Amino acid sequence: MSRLLQPQRLHLETLAQSGQPLAGQTALAELPRLAADAPPEAPAVPPVAWQATAQWRARPGGSDQLWLHLQAQAQMPLVCQRCLAPTVEALDVDRWFRFVDSEAVAEAEDDESEEDLLVMAPQFDLLALLEDELLMALPLVPMHPACPQPPVLRAAEDVADDKPHPFAALAQLRTKPD
Ligand SMILES: [Zn+2]
Repeated sequence: MSRLLQPQRLHLETLAQSGQPLAGQTALAELPRLAADAPPEAPAVPPVAWQATAQWRARPGGSDQLWLHLQAQAQMPLVCQRCLAPTVEALDVDRWFRFVDSEAVAEAEDDESEEDLLVMAPQFDLLALLEDELLMALPLVPMHPACPQPPVLRAAEDVADDKPHPFAALAQLRTKPD
């Protein structure tokens, strides 16, 4: 792979000039912000498969602008919110980004743009963008389509965890040996 086409220090203009997609596979462990959401007892999952394409597009009345298309598929281990056992959710990313010259331009044009705006940089961290997009693709409430085990009712002492029940404290006093 060309020195200019490393995903963490990607030279976007070189990618656009190549006319070819840049594709790769990245292990979940290499995306630490995403991996932090996986339960410790998570089953092993295949690496995240991603593909990025860059292209210059003419803009009426202005200079050409660089666009990036990012696609990714991931299998993400999460905790099922119904039975509290690990589950694996499929994440899918398919987004277009347009690069602008500065943060000020990005802010000014953000409202009227359907695509996401990013600030042009000589070296671009594609894996950081990939991780951001996967984090946003996480389901709010991960759940098995059908739980392997019936949901576990939380035991009374778990429910009382953050606020000890006054009667429980009394009961403790009562069972204290003299
Ligand atoms: Zn479940």
